[in-house]
Amino acid sequence: MAARMLDGALVAQHIRREVAPGVAAFTERAGRPPGLGIVLVGEDPASEIYVRTKLKSAGDEGLRADLHRVPATASLDDVLRLVAELNESEMHDGILVQSPLPAAMGEDAERRVFDLVRPDKDVDGLHPINVGRLVQNRATLVSCTPAGIIELLERSNVAIRGARAVVIGRSDIVGKPMALLLLHRHATVTICHSRTVDLPGVAAAADILVAAIGRPGFVTPAFVKPGATVIDVGTTHVADRAVVERLFPPGSKRHEVFERRGSIVVGDVHPDVAQVAGALSPVPGGVGPLTIAMLLKNTLTAAQLRAGA
Ligand code: NAP
Repeated sequence: MAARMLDGALVAQHIRREVAPGVAAFTERAGRPPGLGIVLVGEDPASEIYVRTKLKSAGDEGLRADLHRVPATASLDDVLRLVAELNESEMHDGILVQSPLPAAMGEDAERRVFDLVRPDKDVDGLHPINVGRLVQNRATLVSCTPAGIIELLERSNVAIRGARAVVIGRSDIVGKPMALLLLHRHATVTICHSRTVDLPGVAAAADILVAAIGRPGFVTPAFVKPGATVIDVGTTHVADRAVVERLFPPGSKRHEVFERRGSIVVGDVHPDVAQVAGALSPVPGGVGPLTIAMLLKNTLTAAQLRAGA
């Protein structure tokens, strides 16, 4: 039987609708809307798309969102200076530095930049103080993608308490906070990564399987317990015909989109998983809109907290 599709876009709409009155009330009280400063370094095509969507969504919901562009040739110090300015800005309640930074800035560039963002403006939940609070299950700003996935699971009535959850991927922005959020809701959590032995076997024990690795179609039916809930986080822009046709044969809808556009966004979960899973959050249209909705929510929360509400 085909999996129930979890409607991330619809849940995202609901979250945005819930955020709207808070934005209006804050704006009325403060005489200005909640503000988000986005820093984009270089011209990574995927980042350009993400940032454009974030700016538009923030504007649509009545938030102020400013884009601060930095050329790829700039130095790490230039980026740090900009973040320091945003830290002091009265207009900006949230700061988001779009990842990845150019490789030339050095291996520890992201860490240095994220560490400089004021914890109370850290809408990506990456500052060590916010990560520490998350580890201890205290109220804090939490990374948008995993927070959105929890909203999706809870609002779709997927039982988390007592469930076995497997998270594939251990990044600071998705895998680790995802595992902690599931743990705090009483799932029994396993985190997998590139050195995990027998990954399909470990994954196939999961009632809830979250795939966040960035490998198109990696999670095949062999990874999935029949009836499990599968959340696909992966978003890889694929222009390689062979990869597309391995997953989406000519004549399929996704293949048609590929023919029209020359590339498509592909998740980590193989399309055949829909025949095994009980519920599935697909790519595109699943986790992406939730991430945006949670960014707006985090920005409002940061604004309210900074205003002492
Ligand atoms: P990341 O920082 O590159 O981390 C990838 C993780 O996957 C690492 O922990 C890596 O393991 C693991 N991995 C890679 N290949 C693997 C393999 N063959 N087997 C097992 N594990 C493997 O990526 P990320 O930032 O977490 O993002 C993951 C994916 O989610 C990407 O496609 C990204 O675009 C997408 N994403 C989507 C949204 C959204 O809003 N829709 C938001 C964030 C991210 P090691 O640690 O061992 O190297």
